[in-house]
Amino acid sequence: MTALRGVGRQIAEKLQALGIETIQDLLFHLPLRYEDRTRIVPLGSLRHGDRVAIEGQVESTQVIHRRRRMMLCRLSDGTGFITLRFFHFSQQQKKGLSSGTRLHCYGEVRDGGFAGFEMIHPEYQRLADDEIPQMEESLTAIYPATEGIHQLTLRRLTDQALALLDKNTTIEELIPAGLYEDDSGFTLAEALQYLHRPPPDAPLKLMKNRQHPCQRRLAFEELLAHNVSLRLMRKRIQRHAAPVMNSSTNLYEKLRSQLGFDLTDAQTRVISEIAEDLRRNYPMMRLVQGDVGSGKTVVAVIAALQAVESGYQVALMAPTEILAEQHFRNMDNWLAPLDIELAWLSGRQKGKARQQALYKVESGEARLIVGTHALFQEEVVFSNLGLMIVDEQHRFGVHQRLRLMEKGMQDNMRPHQMIMTATPIPRTLAMTAYADLDTSIIDELPPGRQPVTTVVIPEERRSEIVERVRHASVQGCQIYWVCPLIEESEVLQAQAATEIESALKEQLSDLKIQLIHGRLKPMEKERIMQSFKDGDIDLLVATTVIEVGVDVPNASLMIIENAERLGLSQLHQLRGRIGRSSKKSSCVLMYKSPLGNTARERLSIMRKTSDGFEIARRDLEIRGPGEVLGTRQTGVLDLRVADLMRDQQMMPEVVKASKAVLNDYPEVIKPLLHRWLKWGLQFARV
Ligand code: ADP
Ligand code: MG
Repeated sequence: MTALRGVGRQIAEKLQALGIETIQDLLFHLPLRYEDRTRIVPLGSLRHGDRVAIEGQVESTQVIHRRRRMMLCRLSDGTGFITLRFFHFSQQQKKGLSSGTRLHCYGEVRDGGFAGFEMIHPEYQRLADDEIPQMEESLTAIYPATEGIHQLTLRRLTDQALALLDKNTTIEELIPAGLYEDDSGFTLAEALQYLHRPPPDAPLKLMKNRQHPCQRRLAFEELLAHNVSLRLMRKRIQRHAAPVMNSSTNLYEKLRSQLGFDLTDAQTRVISEIAEDLRRNYPMMRLVQGDVGSGKTVVAVIAALQAVESGYQVALMAPTEILAEQHFRNMDNWLAPLDIELAWLSGRQKGKARQQALYKVESGEARLIVGTHALFQEEVVFSNLGLMIVDEQHRFGVHQRLRLMEKGMQDNMRPHQMIMTATPIPRTLAMTAYADLDTSIIDELPPGRQPVTTVVIPEERRSEIVERVRHASVQGCQIYWVCPLIEESEVLQAQAATEIESALKEQLSDLKIQLIHGRLKPMEKERIMQSFKDGDIDLLVATTVIEVGVDVPNASLMIIENAERLGLSQLHQLRGRIGRSSKKSSCVLMYKSPLGNTARERLSIMRKTSDGFEIARRDLEIRGPGEVLGTRQTGVLDLRVADLMRDQQMMPEVVKASKAVLNDYPEVIKPLLHRWLKWGLQFARV
């Protein structure tokens, strides 16, 4: 960097903060937007919101006092008028704007109402009588900046970098010929030149939407780099050996006969995809997607059985204590009759219980271990771990996925890995974010599920809702009343739920009402859930404890308090607890006014659809992929030019190119990753 004129140590450090360390980085630090200083716009054809250069003669300049002191300068050019408005000005400045003066200005045009158009604090320059202002030859780039680096500095530096580019010394064309075609035919160097210094007639609107061929060219290359890095990682992992699980299917058949239901076709299909993977001698890396209630757990158990029967240990990891607990209970129900020993590991476990659990894991006595992140801990030593199942992947990042795999490594063998998520991810997005994984989709719900009618009601109508609950109970329905997280603290959450419980007990004295929250002992929670299931409780007041895994078919009404505070996927998860029998179910989303725009939109989406894929799609639109997939922190999807949502339709072509690069052009891999991913090389090493 310091090779460039005007870059001392100080500037170099500030550039570094922007992620710019090389001339190449500088060239890929693209403008956020552009200003058109190439031409003068006649005052008669201004439009609100335009950022333009204008020229005119001062008609009058006066200082007035509205709420604040301000200077107004009226300008005309024969085609129209505009007012320049200044809140800060010196006497000197005022003198300089005496009537008759010719001005050249640049700024944003605003519609000032009856006073006509105005510009607030425009940049301006006085012109001599016959002076013609110097106009720019290209659109002016405005860069994402950092404190202490002026736009002018960035412009001067990119000027130099572009000049070097002209000599074709700094930038290499990395996409092999034929892998990316567009009609515009820009080379990489030309595309960069264009984006840094667009010609005056450049289609600004197109560029604003990042749809210009030059932008698409770069986005393609960036997505390609990401895809290559993920595939490379996958390839490296799959070069390792993994246990071959050629078990008989005795345990599977036994389990099936005691399930009490038939597997859906979708479940059967996914189960056989997994079984196939487990018989291979390299690690499975499979993402199983399935909407809430699609029956992922039983699919996981059946995979586990194949591993156990082949003599391997299985670990099942969930992101929260509650979810892990529920899995543990489910697994225990299913596996105890098959004489399979389980262990439970959580961060909260202390003393003897913990020692015992650790011992059971290490000795191999436990065949299936269920737990939270605690499975990562150093004291945990697996014994012949063959399969690792992670539930609710979207809360784990790629790094954690890798660490887990390393953790399970034994004699240079890697365990198979299966990841389950209830956030259905559009296919093209999955191709980007999970290019290292194969995907299976359980795209069918078990039979007999009823669509849930959803209504949105303000809190003021609480008494109506209470009546509705009373009515439902008389009809023999059971009811959930959910009091979601209001404070981050479990204590306060439990407190809020307790208050609601006592209020409801007063209003609905005929009903058997019980409270359940995260601070109760596991045994206690278990007991309560069981008696709700047995029908001994009419109304269950719950915190989001019931978000996951709880299954009570007779419950067909759900009230959710403070629904405006919950995210789409959380609401969808909660609502997934009802509509599990042939009864008609309904869900009441109660909210506190006033509703913000996003909250209003979320609630309306919930009212209109129960399709998990549709909800996930809208969730992605509202929150963005980083948030939804939980990949923001990991930096994996830290894209500079491309946008996962916007550029989705490119993915099939990207994937094709990526395969070609890996197969036929290994020499471009390293420079490609180096150009686009700070993480890339690190990944490549795994
Ligand atoms: P999720 O995919 O949300 O994790 P679960 O695995 O918790 O769903 O399954 C939801 C409920 O559906 C559980 O009670 C489970 O036993 C039941 N279930 C799973 N598969 C079937 C099936 N094929 N037919 C009927 N019920 C099923
Ligand atoms: Mg589940």
